[in-house]
Amino acid sequence: MGHLDAVGACGVEVRLPADLRGLDGLIIPGGESTTISMGIESAGLADGIRDLHAAGRPILGTCAGMIVADREHLGLIDITTRRNAFGRQLASFEDEIELPGIAEAPVRAVFIRAPWVEQLGGSVEVLAELRGHPVAVRQANVTALSFHPELVGDDRIHRWFAAECGRAEAGL
Ligand code: GLN
Repeated sequence: MGHLDAVGACGVEVRLPADLRGLDGLIIPGGESTTISMGIESAGLADGIRDLHAAGRPILGTCAGMIVADREHLGLIDITTRRNAFGRQLASFEDEIELPGIAEAPVRAVFIRAPWVEQLGGSVEVLAELRGHPVAVRQANVTALSFHPELVGDDRIHRWFAAECGRAEAGL
């Protein structure tokens, strides 16, 4: 069972614009940001994602999803990102991250060829930094994480996100 099921959320894969209809929130996952961006372009998903964003639906970008959400891609959050920022030596590593407002105790974060936030606008809140660079940021209804919360046996981030979606749905 995936983390979304475990927290009582009903996840659907978004491949076509029609899949975006009626969603309470959106996760832009990790993977390869160039591939995801090309997929968004070829499926014509960008406008629908921007509509969800404008409607105040929670959006969570993780790893490549952080890059796809940034100023130079979908423009959902006022940040620029550096791809593969932690370098070849550190292609993949784990660390403990404090995420105030999301999880009370630190979460174990898995970084895989992860980006970090290079520049950020004044209305972007930094939730966590690692080695002097932001790795968890938030602006209004968009949260972007450099790491992969689905790869640990801890569903607190998904639980928090599902609750955010519920609050947005209820107009709170
Ligand atoms: N390095 C990938 C990219 O630049 C992101 C890796 C990931 O999502 N784990 O798109």
